[in-house]
Amino acid sequence: MNLILLGPPGAGKGTQAKRLEDRYGLKQISTGDMLRAEVKSGSEIGLQAKAIMERGDLVPDAIIIAMLSARVSQPDVTKGFILEGFPRTGAQAEALDLVLADKKMPLHHVIELQVDDAAMVERISGRYTCAKCGEGWHDSFKQPKVAGVCDSCGGTEFTRRADDKAETVAARLEAYHKQTAPLLPYYAGRGVLRVVDGMAEMNEVSSQIEAILGKSGG
Ligand code: ADP
Ligand code: ZN
Repeated sequence: MNLILLGPPGAGKGTQAKRLEDRYGLKQISTGDMLRAEVKSGSEIGLQAKAIMERGDLVPDAIIIAMLSARVSQPDVTKGFILEGFPRTGAQAEALDLVLADKKMPLHHVIELQVDDAAMVERISGRYTCAKCGEGWHDSFKQPKVAGVCDSCGGTEFTRRADDKAETVAARLEAYHKQTAPLLPYYAGRGVLRVVDGMAEMNEVSSQIEAILGKSGG
């Protein structure tokens, strides 16, 4: 089964994608994670993307499309994938259609996590990650039992994304509304769009997604 998770920054796409990966054996493909890895490694792509990401703007389509096409050609995605953070523009959506048609991979569902913008700023600016195991935490909504110690692995070092500052979040939300939200009618017109309530509690969001996937028999 092949899915897209769509929604603004902070909607919970990454969290839900991880859960679907564990539960259904699908591969999570996050262009944001891929770009952060490129930045970290200091690659050519990373050098081009770093400043753009820190401003909250979108990385050029040509870079993203090349990166994504290479990724879906890897053997580990043949059982199914969850695209998260891609596509983000009309050009990316069209390129995806071509790549999938070429590989004879169908697109089963596009799941929109519907949320209020106002809540996203608080969600994003409070979030941080365990440097050792990658578990996500939040200053207000999800604190470790013992302050400064990761419940999952005992790690004591945490990282915050460079673009999770309140100033940058506004630019990311604007990019979403201008460039990505127009994809919703595009997929609705093809009959593959499903909407879930991204403001609900995390487990409830997962249940809503599972109900959609269950109905399709896969
Ligand atoms: P979020 O959804 O929370 O904004 P991501 O990790 O998906 O976080 O993206 C972080 C940044 O990486 C974006 O603000 C953008 O600069 C860049 N990026 C990620 N995916 C894409 C994409 N498909 N097209 C263009 N830029 C992207
Ligand atoms: Zn940890």
